[in-house]
Amino acid sequence: MSFFEKLYDKSPIVFQNLMVSISGYQRNLNRYGKTYYEYLKFLEDFDTWSLEQKLEYQRKELINFIQYTVNNSGFYENLYKNIDINLIQTVNDLKKLPIVDKEMLRKNIDDVVTISKKGAVEGHTGGTTGKSLVVLYTKEDMMKRMAMLDHFKARVGFKHRQMKRATFNGKHIIPPNQEKKSFWRYNAACKQMIYSSFHITEENMKYYVESLNKYKPDAIDGFFMSMCDIAGYIERHNIKLEFIPVGIFPTSETLTKAGRELLERVFKCKVYDQYASSEGAPFVTECKEQVLHIELASGVFEHFEENNDEILVTSFTTHGTPLIRYKIGDSMDFDNTNKLCSCGIQAPIVKEIQGRKLDFLYTADGAKINAGNVANLFKNMPNALIRAQAIQNKIDEIIIKLEVDKTLYKTEYDELLENEFLHKFGRKTKITIEHVDEIPREKSGKFRLIINKVNGEIV
Ligand SMILES: [Zn+2]
Repeated sequence: MSFFEKLYDKSPIVFQNLMVSISGYQRNLNRYGKTYYEYLKFLEDFDTWSLEQKLEYQRKELINFIQYTVNNSGFYENLYKNIDINLIQTVNDLKKLPIVDKEMLRKNIDDVVTISKKGAVEGHTGGTTGKSLVVLYTKEDMMKRMAMLDHFKARVGFKHRQMKRATFNGKHIIPPNQEKKSFWRYNAACKQMIYSSFHITEENMKYYVESLNKYKPDAIDGFFMSMCDIAGYIERHNIKLEFIPVGIFPTSETLTKAGRELLERVFKCKVYDQYASSEGAPFVTECKEQVLHIELASGVFEHFEENNDEILVTSFTTHGTPLIRYKIGDSMDFDNTNKLCSCGIQAPIVKEIQGRKLDFLYTADGAKINAGNVANLFKNMPNALIRAQAIQNKIDEIIIKLEVDKTLYKTEYDELLENEFLHKFGRKTKITIEHVDEIPREKSGKFRLIINKVNGEIV
């Protein structure tokens, strides 16, 4: 633990707020400079371009980015040594280049990066795959990424740093032995109340809701499951909210339909999804019509191969740690019909972000049941369920952990769940329901609906 962390933990809350804000202002220096404002302006203009203009812009950016990468990254120079990169003139030509995966980058990271740590902005990845990777961004790229995200929110009416934001994230802002029921800190640099995702228990949730009602945020962002927990609590206890946000912007986790409906019902505003990643993938964002669009200025998405939804990304904001045809481990379903969206933005549509490969369970027969369907298991459960988690340690058994409101839960609800389960997983897969006081979170503070420990592909 650093001196700063020790000092933080021992300080009164007022001083902690100050420290959070100071660190916020420091972070802002890398995020909101000249490039940020210029790029924000560019993006506003870019939205008005025709699809052809945008694709031509993307093509030119691609050529420049590959040229830069080969000139500056030893790893890519070597990887492409037998390829004439001048032949890469279109997005389609990308197929001539080899695919790169996380393990390749991790092993060769010193040779992949094009800039030194000093002056760079670090991005950390890891989580679901267990492999961690630190990538470096140039300050300019970081500013462009921030502009892209803020522009996505501005399209639906949220002005970043001018309006109030409530964020649920994995920052350790609450000292371990704090007794006061105050699970949030204020970052004045971003008009942002940060809510700890580690302390959201049934007992504590009323304090969270009281705080939200007092703070009255214009937007809520951060971990999807944490927001769903709070929304579920508000609905179960029929609490009146004293604010209506402009929008809800979840990050980091794959959205479920049921969770999204819950949030929209409780907070009376729309949920806008986005796809971005800490290793620097290009962006997919939802427009005001809640349709997912590829942000063509940010990079290229390809499918790994035909009839496979897994994606490869090439990202124009990764000059520090270039990603070209990078197998990021996520899946998407593209809409190839060239349908126009009524929002007016001409950009390809993504039908669905399917999320991480590991977000699924197997039936005893080896069939995959994706996260959405797993979430649906609980959809028809009466309003007494606080949280659930499905764990698969072996192919023929799934353990469902349930955290319930004991005052409302009836034992027959277990049968309802067993019945739902039977219809999705069949008779051969055994279900074991365990009632627990609290389902633990990941170290990152994220909550995982699914933990699949069955190794390898079983098809
Ligand atoms: Zn649209």
